Amino acid sequence: MQLRKFQRLNADELSLLWDDGHTEIVSLRRLRDACPCAGCKGETLLLHHYGPPAVDYEAAGRYELVSATPVGNYAIKLVWGDKHADGMYTWVLLRALCECAVCRAERGELAGDGSPRGEGSLL
Ligand SMILES: [Zn+2]
Ligand SMILES: [Zn+2]
Repeated sequence: MQLRKFQRLNADELSLLWDDGHTEIVSLRRLRDACPCAGCKGETLLLHHYGPPAVDYEAAGRYELVSATPVGNYAIKLVWGDKHADGMYTWVLLRALCECAVCRAERGELAGDGSPRGEGSLL
């Protein structure tokens, strides 16, 4: 799977067009909170997991996207308003962030009958 197009939809969201024709809408907040770098997610060295430092969700510019640079043909590097630039977002990770019903169903996040569980459900 390849990313064909990466563009800003509005102040808070990006639109990603995939080569299978799927359009993904993802919020900057969701993207930033999913930053895969060691500083955000911690890292495992010699079987010991080192947790990430506490996150300052209120940091100025944390959810402002400054630039997006393709890395090879498999990822994109995002630079944020608080100068954070370590996150390498692979296609796999980006696609996994899609919240549409189709992708959620593919990930097994929807009930078998297709009706959403949890938020919004009255049952
Ligand atoms: Zn990070
Ligand atoms: Zn989707």
